[in-house]
Amino acid sequence: MSGPSLPKPDAETLRRRHEIVADMRIIVPGEGVVDTANEMRAFESDGLTAYRQLPLVVVLPETTAQVSRILKYCHDRNIRVVPRGSGTSLSGGALPLEDAVLLVMSRFNRILDIDFPNRAVVAQPGVTNLGITNAVEHEGFYYAPDPSSQIACSIGGNVAENSGGVHCLKYGLTANNVLGIEMVLINGEVVRLGGKHLDSEGYDLLGIMTGSEGLLGVVTEVTVRILKKPEMARALLIGFPSSEEAGQCVADIIGAGIIPGGMEMMDRPAIHAAEDFVHAGYPLECEALLIVELDGPGAEVDHLIAEVEAIAARNNSTTCRISQSEEERLTFWAGRKAAFPAVGRISPDYYCMDGTIPRKELPKVLSGMRELSEKYGLRVANVFHAGDGNLHPLILYDANEPGELERAEAFGADILRLCVKVGGVLTGEHGVGVEKRDLMPEMFDKADLDQQIRVKCAFDPNHLLNPGKVFPQLHRCAELGRMHIHRGQMPFPDIPRF
Ligand SMILES: Cc1cc2nc3c(=O)[nH]c(=O)nc-3n(C[C@H](O)[C@H](O)[C@H](O)COP(=O)(O)OP(=O)(O)OC[C@H]3O[C@@H](n4cnc5c(N)ncnc54)[C@H](O)[C@@H]3O)c2cc1C
Repeated sequence: MSGPSLPKPDAETLRRRHEIVADMRIIVPGEGVVDTANEMRAFESDGLTAYRQLPLVVVLPETTAQVSRILKYCHDRNIRVVPRGSGTSLSGGALPLEDAVLLVMSRFNRILDIDFPNRAVVAQPGVTNLGITNAVEHEGFYYAPDPSSQIACSIGGNVAENSGGVHCLKYGLTANNVLGIEMVLINGEVVRLGGKHLDSEGYDLLGIMTGSEGLLGVVTEVTVRILKKPEMARALLIGFPSSEEAGQCVADIIGAGIIPGGMEMMDRPAIHAAEDFVHAGYPLECEALLIVELDGPGAEVDHLIAEVEAIAARNNSTTCRISQSEEERLTFWAGRKAAFPAVGRISPDYYCMDGTIPRKELPKVLSGMRELSEKYGLRVANVFHAGDGNLHPLILYDANEPGELERAEAFGADILRLCVKVGGVLTGEHGVGVEKRDLMPEMFDKADLDQQIRVKCAFDPNHLLNPGKVFPQLHRCAELGRMHIHRGQMPFPDIPRF
């Protein structure tokens, strides 16, 4: 869905744009400013490709000093700024605005320090998630949070979205693995939060920044914790006659005190799509598949495998294969890691949702989703970070069929409402962005939202950083507490809507 068509810019708007572009070229000389429509096309959307918008100008700085000058310039002239990493966000968080500078951090692509004794890596924010593991694996270390997009997404984007992945059940989300950041405030000031040390005094501002979706500041350096690779990792591939039985098995494994390195679930459509794509050897007759990875010392892994096998049998598992080699373990995972592109092969388009529920509610939510699938006449393939209760329903639709995108969006919104109703949350790891912004009042009441907006106001009182994202309404900071939030109604026309 593109933004509303806007009137042709008047002479004054064009003059102002030329001036901003020229000033950006002074701050970032060389190739760092992109302003033609053709070249900016590459930045017009993020992973949520249904939304598109060209920015005012794309700027690719290389140093913190340049970021500081850009932000101060924009602050002093009331110009909006959208930060962007690799542009893989699935919630429209990095979606450009027509009148905003798109600040792309991809040229911040260097690892600055590898500190094995302190088990820390300092990286620029444009380094890819996998780039960190690649830099340390020769010494047997790795960076644990592993989004499926890890080959492309940036560590700065991971901080902004508090990203997760298969291994976050045991090793925590980005928030649990980031030790410190350098960031630039909208007025150009450079601030350091945390560092290689484990404890920091005062407010947990690092915690506030993690998951702040580019609304509070621009991250220019990230220090992360790295972990030693476990002595052994083996995976079980377990088939079930129903998603409910697989869901119960997940609850029973966790209930038994076992925290697997990863525990993922796929339903029948996802299993078939993945198997056709990567030939991972998945059982095709089952309705649900669990991949359970156990890691640690060899003896512990063997013991836990036997326990998980027994729990699965009590939940009527129909097949159970245990990886016999590292190659086989990786093959088990290959299908899951390729599930999104695999589903892309069975439908012209899909819409990926991201809600989290208490694990025990999985059977209820799955049957609710089936009813919704019938109501909207759209198929859904399910891929879950099952151990975390983080659902990724992929709603299959065809954007060329009139009305199907709207139906898919309505279906997705109902799934998220269902998640909230059973005690869950609107997003597990993909962020709110523009996609779930108008659903925020489903989860937070006015007092909750006001308090969150007060935090935004403390960092960015004029709402210049990534406006139109996350909050259904951005009150003028001075007006907080005086306004009534009503499901996404927007009293201020100058705050972007999509
Ligand atoms: C195929 C696929 C699979 C995915 N799988 C997962 C998954 O398993 N787990 C998961 O959590 N996510 C997943 N994602 C979503 C996405 O990859 C993550 O949200 C990722 O962290 C985004 O990083 P990015 O560099 O692409 O950020 P972008 O998309 O560029 O930006 C995302 C947000 O971060 C802000 N931002 C980016 N860089 C900075 C910075 N330096 N300073 C301040 N703000 C910044 C932007 O303003 C925006 O709000 C997947 C996406 C795709 C396409």
